[in-house]
Amino acid sequence: MSHAEHLDPSTTAVTAGRPERTPGAPLNTPIVPASSFIAGGDLAYARDGNPTGQAFEDALGALEGGVAVAFASGMAAANAVFDTLPHGARLLATRPAYAGVSGRLRELDAAGRIDLTFIDAENSEALVSAAAEVDMVWLESPTNPMLVVPPIDRMITAAKGCGATVVFDNTFATPLLQRPLDLGADIVMHSATKALSGHSDLLMGALVVRTDEHAEVFRTRRVLLGAAPSAFDSYLALRGIRTLALRVERAQSTARFLADELASHPAVARVRYPGFGTIMAIEVAGTSGDADAVCASTRIWVHATSLGGVESLLERRRQWEFEDTLVPETLIRLSVGIEHPDDLMSDLTAALSRVTT
Ligand code: PLP
Repeated sequence: MSHAEHLDPSTTAVTAGRPERTPGAPLNTPIVPASSFIAGGDLAYARDGNPTGQAFEDALGALEGGVAVAFASGMAAANAVFDTLPHGARLLATRPAYAGVSGRLRELDAAGRIDLTFIDAENSEALVSAAAEVDMVWLESPTNPMLVVPPIDRMITAAKGCGATVVFDNTFATPLLQRPLDLGADIVMHSATKALSGHSDLLMGALVVRTDEHAEVFRTRRVLLGAAPSAFDSYLALRGIRTLALRVERAQSTARFLADELASHPAVARVRYPGFGTIMAIEVAGTSGDADAVCASTRIWVHATSLGGVESLLERRRQWEFEDTLVPETLIRLSVGIEHPDDLMSDLTAALSRVTT
């Protein structure tokens, strides 16, 4: 089936990345455990790609409206982009951005490889004017873990006006809720470890671009950096994509419910939820110790890092030394799963009763 035709994304998630409908052919692309391929075909060595990974790329590309290149992790995908930057390139990123990405950007800046400008994601005017003065804009929206939505449209327009490349980390929204290429971004980045695969059982990443020519740049980076995903992880991630729409729909509806309920909870000073998506954050009306006590005392929510899985997770982000100091000490990031909303709410209510203020 051609995915150029207009289909609802929930249909594309189920139909894209399947083998040809040849009688007797399997319904799913099998896991192909091969590090090498017989000479003379499209594939030579598994760092070039793997049929299972290509099926995942077909599905993600169809969902994002572009050409996908799969990587071993979200960070591997991000580093493939950084690797293409010329020496001294000026790069703008929001603060906070995912701590792994911002940590790597700070390293590259300290080594003199790039000239980094970090601007508070809530400072819209400064972001828009800086976007017109750099070579690359690294956008994350909503941001991790503050759930800020920066002025995406104005930043992309400003960046395009000066010929800058716009990279958009779409991990939080997923292509079901936001398609950055349609918004004007040049490169979409994903941690497929999260909602795309959806079961917290693998590490994978991806880049999605408009043309095959641009994708080839990143396929080459993947080969040379040794950043290809395994066939098994590619299979699991593609299997996860099949249920993406159902999972996002359910978790988003629960997140909206929780955001409403928590807004009036006396132990919650602030709810951060942009109105869409499956990730939210609360600031506890108390101390970091209170927030730690909440994280330690839930029975359904699991105290663990990461997000986007079927199971609900929570963590106080400032427990990590590398987290941005703009993130409040009392902020707990909530990754909403697909359990029953009432069970999730009563578990949180019980845990929040530990807050002393
Ligand atoms: N981008 C965002 C928004 C993330 O939350 C993460 C991981 O938490 C990454 C990128 C990095 O992805 P990975 O852990 O798959 O390397």
